[in-house]
Amino acid sequence: VGDEMATGGGRAAEVLRRVFGYEAFRGEQQAIVDHVVGGGDALVLMPTGGGKSLCYQIPALVRDGVGVVISPLIALMQDQVDALRALGVRAGFLNSTQDLDERRLVEAEFTAGELDLLYLAPERLRSESTLRLLDGGKVSLFAIDEAHCVAQWGHDFRRDYLELSLLHQRWPDVPRIALTATATDATRREIATRLELTGARHFVASFDRPNIQYRITAKNDPKRQLLDLLRTEHPGDAGIVYCLSRASVEKTAEYLAGKGVEALPYHAGLDARTRAEHQSRFLREDGLVMVATIAFGMGIDKPDVRFVAHLDLPKSVEGYYQETGRAGRDGLPATAWLAYGYQDVVQQRRMIDTSEGDDAHRRRLAAHLDAMLALCETVRCRRVQLLDYFGQSSTPCGNCDTCLTPPESWDGTVAAQKLLSTVWRLKRERNDEFGVGHVVDILLGRKTAKVIQKDHDTLKVFGVGDDLTEAEWRSVARQLLAQRLLAVKGEYGVLTLTEAGDEVLFRGRQVPLRRDPQRAAKAAKAERT
Ligand code: ADP
Ligand code: ZN
Repeated sequence: VGDEMATGGGRAAEVLRRVFGYEAFRGEQQAIVDHVVGGGDALVLMPTGGGKSLCYQIPALVRDGVGVVISPLIALMQDQVDALRALGVRAGFLNSTQDLDERRLVEAEFTAGELDLLYLAPERLRSESTLRLLDGGKVSLFAIDEAHCVAQWGHDFRRDYLELSLLHQRWPDVPRIALTATATDATRREIATRLELTGARHFVASFDRPNIQYRITAKNDPKRQLLDLLRTEHPGDAGIVYCLSRASVEKTAEYLAGKGVEALPYHAGLDARTRAEHQSRFLREDGLVMVATIAFGMGIDKPDVRFVAHLDLPKSVEGYYQETGRAGRDGLPATAWLAYGYQDVVQQRRMIDTSEGDDAHRRRLAAHLDAMLALCETVRCRRVQLLDYFGQSSTPCGNCDTCLTPPESWDGTVAAQKLLSTVWRLKRERNDEFGVGHVVDILLGRKTAKVIQKDHDTLKVFGVGDDLTEAEWRSVARQLLAQRLLAVKGEYGVLTLTEAGDEVLFRGRQVPLRRDPQRAAKAAKAERT
């Protein structure tokens, strides 16, 4: 393809039309392509489905030499290369799935200048022979795809990505373009620093996905809630259901299958063949539901995913945004639905407490979780909150759950004081600590076996909380946890006070809370009757 290219400023536009069959560039593509064709470094932040690939594929075709693409998505390389070849682009890849003969063939094509694009797994660059191979040919540019894999806090972190700064050191004159769908300032800075992209121009596309409806709901019977969503709003639609653990992936997939929903499991514990088969069925068949851990999805380009459901809380807003971004790439309406509850906060905090790494690392993880919790507990428009996190301002969307059913906020100070003082008294008067279930039993004045046995019905706080229901107390506990007014610790998730909690208990600090919409409905009903 490279040879037949006309010269002059319109070459990129011509490649776009002739090779890819598209009439016009989208959004920032033109500016990015021009910049990289001209030899500049670029850092591209564009949402999933925004069209990042053309940003390096076209410069690779226009510039002299072979464009080298670093990608962690080994499982997709064959597909990507096949798709390019079908367009007449001379593409190849090198990764661990190939045998020696296949590798030799690609290496020979590279050296002979018979490739336009070469896809490389990042670990290839650890081998001196790959570096020498690149020295022996002409590289037109380096594209670093999924560049957020260099960010150390993230769930996509790949150690091999840290080594990619060597590209600049070894080939200072070859332009580099790093691309990601992850967009906070912090991640952007981390990518620029770690990849030594200090002089790169940054291109930041809008992160709004107007066709996605964001909804975050209180979790009570998650599988049932999911099934209701699928039956009432998405019968026969393709979608992705994310779960935290392999076990819950298996259970949820079985549950859905048992209810007549065509669902397949996907997680890193399945063998490679099963994973590949499920992935390709999901891509090729209509209306399949993939139940998966976050191991699934990066690089998957299926336009008609109608919903992404989370049965567990994502670890960060960035992860949530990326995962939900897989819905509705075709621009048609799609749903991002998340069920979230008390136990999610307990579980995530525990995972952070027991995670490897130093304190700074744990603090970063905790900050990411806090931002995710703030999104869950907000009374603002979800989209406004989400875009705000990515540094983009916007106005209420009118389409998310908080826009459609504005949650009330209420003064939860007294409720918080009751719950916190129960925890405080258990510690002070009985020198003991308990999980939320038992604390709520005490508040509600329930004479359970444990309450009787521990003599907790003689506590001064016994029964002081009978103005709220159990579900409401759990919502209070969840929000106190999210606001760090309460902490959990240990294997059993026992509740303890925090310094901020002391302020509520002893220094009159106010506690605004969000009323979960079901409760708002119930309260309204109670008022009517
Ligand atoms: P990303 O990597 O950002 O998730 P892709 O590069 O896979 O997105 O592009 C998403 C989809 O949009 C692909 O199907 C691609 O062919 C299409 N696309 C990209 N750029 C254009 C364009 N300028 N005109 C029409 N379609 C485009
Ligand atoms: Zn909204």
